[in-house]
Amino acid sequence: MQLHNFNSGPAILPQEVLDQAAAAIHNFNNTGLSILEIGHRTSHFVEVIEEAKTIVKRLMNIGEEYEVLFLQGGATMQFMQVPMNLLDETGMAAICDNGVWGNKAVKEAKLFGPVTVVSDSSDKKHTYLHKQLNLPADTTYLHITTNNTVEGTQWHSYPQLGVPLVGDMSSDIFCRPTDFSKFDLIYAGAQKNMGAAGVTMVVVKKSLLGKVNRKIPAILDYQKHIEAGSLLNTPPVFSIYVSLLTLRWIEKEGGLVEMEKRNLEKANLLYKTIDEHPLFYCPIAQEDRSIMNAVFFLNDSSKEAAFLELCKKEGMIGVKGYRTVGGIRVSMYNAMPLSSVVAFCDLMKSFA
Ligand SMILES: *Cc1c(COP(=O)(O)O)cnc(C)c1O
Repeated sequence: MQLHNFNSGPAILPQEVLDQAAAAIHNFNNTGLSILEIGHRTSHFVEVIEEAKTIVKRLMNIGEEYEVLFLQGGATMQFMQVPMNLLDETGMAAICDNGVWGNKAVKEAKLFGPVTVVSDSSDKKHTYLHKQLNLPADTTYLHITTNNTVEGTQWHSYPQLGVPLVGDMSSDIFCRPTDFSKFDLIYAGAQKNMGAAGVTMVVVKKSLLGKVNRKIPAILDYQKHIEAGSLLNTPPVFSIYVSLLTLRWIEKEGGLVEMEKRNLEKANLLYKTIDEHPLFYCPIAQEDRSIMNAVFFLNDSSKEAAFLELCKKEGMIGVKGYRTVGGIRVSMYNAMPLSSVVAFCDLMKSFA
């Protein structure tokens, strides 16, 4: 049976990326060695990391003022590494709390300095984005979660309020053309839309750093990672390689314009199917619906178990909603083919 992988993360990767990664485990670039066996300071690996950085900068259309880092600890570590490097008692972090991940960013930032929650959509169970932001006068930076993976909302235009903007793009990085230069710091765990678990990309404007009055351990100091070219210690070599293969795939397929075209086609089809069938409903405000993670429910919740059972039987993987949200969540990252979304929509129609 053909499987359709709608997992929210770690998530689907292009078949050719999997094939190339598998081949490199046996023989990396005709070195006769596995990618798992080469030194991270050899020219072989330095070429990998340099090419990955070059493609990221090309896709983002950003220049020398930014640095690209490949770090560990997941996006979760960025919830503390960002404030540790940017925030102290003299400033204020303005953070948008529109769901599970933004809420964690708030909690961690409070360990390092004052925090104001400037967007809170909990009054309607995070089914919309509260977009009128009133920033405190002493705001050091504004933090947004560009795509709320769990709740199914996505910022479709970004707030420009004259303060440095930090974006957690873990679940929508490279899903469409974006003016990345509006951001001063972007981070993304790779395992949703750009590779395998184990590496987190951080893109940071160098002028943002060196302003806090605090001693920072080297391993958590962006500046130290920049000076060491992401080779401060042994980086996650294999995960970085899988990200490189995925980045090459994005460019080969036509770049971010093509990714957006495909992602819109998939998301439009799915939301249309939900909206057209009274059995299903999507509570997310139209204008804030995510093109990566669609969250929806069955009007008759007693039928949910039967629907999930049918999905399982038909090879639809990972469509059960997040434990605190319930319902159905369909993740449609870049590597997800339209044919899988068509198959899922056909299943919805026949069940309805
Ligand atoms: C998955 C996710 C995280 C957490 O990522 P980890 O790599 O597990 O730490 C943070 N933010 C967003 C938006 C996510 O989707």
